[in-house]
Amino acid sequence: MTFSIHGLAVSRGVAIGRAVLVASSRMDVAHYFIAAQDIETEISRVRTGRDTVIDEIRRLQESVSNMGPKEAPQELAALLDVHLMLLQDEELISGVKHWISDRLYNAEWALTTQLEIISRQFDEMEDAYLRERKADLEQIVERVLRAMKGTASPIAALTPRAERKSPQQDLLLDDTVDVPLVLVAHDLSPADMLQFKQSLFAGFITDVGGKTSHTAIVARSMDIPAVVGARTCSQLVRQDDWVIIDGDAGVVIVDPSSIILAEYGFKQRQGELERGRLQRLLHTPAVTMDGEKVQLLANIEMPEDAAVALKAGALGVGLFRSEFLFMGRQGRLPDEEEQFQAYKKAVEGMHGLPVTIRTVDVGADKPLDETLRDDAHLNPALGLRAIRWSLADPAMFLTQLRAILRAAAFGQVRLLVPMLAHASEIRQTLAHIEQARAMLDHKGVAFGPVKLGAMIEIPAAALSLKLFLKHFDFLSIGTNDLIQYTLAIDRADESVAHLYDPLHPAVLRLVADTITECNAQGKDVSVCGEMAGDIGLTKLLLGLGLRSFSMHPAQILAVKQEILRSDASRLQPWATRVLEAEDPALAMAAT
Ligand code: PEP
Ligand code: MG
Repeated sequence: MTFSIHGLAVSRGVAIGRAVLVASSRMDVAHYFIAAQDIETEISRVRTGRDTVIDEIRRLQESVSNMGPKEAPQELAALLDVHLMLLQDEELISGVKHWISDRLYNAEWALTTQLEIISRQFDEMEDAYLRERKADLEQIVERVLRAMKGTASPIAALTPRAERKSPQQDLLLDDTVDVPLVLVAHDLSPADMLQFKQSLFAGFITDVGGKTSHTAIVARSMDIPAVVGARTCSQLVRQDDWVIIDGDAGVVIVDPSSIILAEYGFKQRQGELERGRLQRLLHTPAVTMDGEKVQLLANIEMPEDAAVALKAGALGVGLFRSEFLFMGRQGRLPDEEEQFQAYKKAVEGMHGLPVTIRTVDVGADKPLDETLRDDAHLNPALGLRAIRWSLADPAMFLTQLRAILRAAAFGQVRLLVPMLAHASEIRQTLAHIEQARAMLDHKGVAFGPVKLGAMIEIPAAALSLKLFLKHFDFLSIGTNDLIQYTLAIDRADESVAHLYDPLHPAVLRLVADTITECNAQGKDVSVCGEMAGDIGLTKLLLGLGLRSFSMHPAQILAVKQEILRSDASRLQPWATRVLEAEDPALAMAAT
């Protein structure tokens, strides 16, 4: 039966494919595709884990049988019997084998996927006693996962789907066709997203997340349709269901009829044609009709993205989110050499164009590690995040600064600092940069000059522009956080997503004042938040005086098209009126 689920539109386009569920169980496991030659190893890892647990339970049974009824009530023996039975259950075993051999899921993913499927069957049972056995199943799977921990295969086994070569590869789903897959999850950490970035999913759906949550940002950077904040989607969609993601409308259609499929197939092809048309603008300079030059830069997450940025026609990197190098590493942070190599790769990859490397911004919805998520802090977005985190760990910060300064010997590097608000933080940051230079100098290690920039992400920073411009060469407006902190709306929380408003007069005022002040002082200013890539806002930002936009590479050509159609001199008085309106969105729509 066809039904639709509404969420938030975060990454445009239409995706049609079969659902791959990433189990939302309490068990936090890695999800990745294995290489075909590892199928047997993965199956035997599960078998060994299961056998270990069976042995444990048998030993327990023995000791229980040697106890009296007082120490070991009969129910305990019965429960152990149930656990043994569940462990040997054919549906569990054959299901896990199927996910590993036919879908190339890693062992843990296969186990939790099958757990989810059987759990749903338990949920539907009439008999209350049987329904409660779901908890037993979860317990034994958890035990098997724990037993498997010792035999974890390297995460590096992650294999891009396109490269999978196995007799099973073409047996996916229909047994004949290589059907696109759509990932459905309760939540995906930025680290998870990064892993999936290498697997060719056609689209993403998550139950939670806001428009500028990092899951949404990574989906946009991959230029694939995504819907977040779809509430109970991961419970309503079943493994292998046909799913349409309408990333423009924020709608997910499950089990579509053939008429709906045909309609969306058409929409999908229209989108592809439009992209093809935009390609013609690749080499056209971004200049308005009245001759104003505009700089279009790329936001990247990994050094390899530099190639994507160049291919999209970016004239540099306006934001390299370095924190993605630090995530999902079980607390083992990259050392100076590893970071240096990564930054150098991005710098060299841009062939002389500027690369803006932002110092690490972890915390809030970008934990270093899911398992290390610190729930003790109730307001992580207001906590030890970004520069606060860096200043709290000077050795880590100095390591990163040295790596960036060294990479600057290989091209144009701009060093960008996130989340600054206080004069004392600025002073400490600058002192650390000086210290990092002195350390390299002392050791005789080569490094290059860098332009220094600060992100304007906290209202306090936007209201202290003179202070910032005294110390920095350029400013970059992080509108994602600026909106979050101005309006007190958690950017990752779908329940307040309707209040997350880039066009709130207070937000526009802070953005406008920052642009005006920088322009007046002849300092570079750009917007690197999601507003920069929103074609609905291009004209407004141009009218406010912005001449440098940094966005996901996939958005560059569409924004360029808007710029080519704009007359900046006429936009300026219009933007001033919008800025002063009680309801800027209405004022924009009315003109
Ligand atoms: C922003 O806040 O707008 C920004 C670009 O930084 P991030 O999204 O990484 O917090
Ligand atoms: Mg930010």
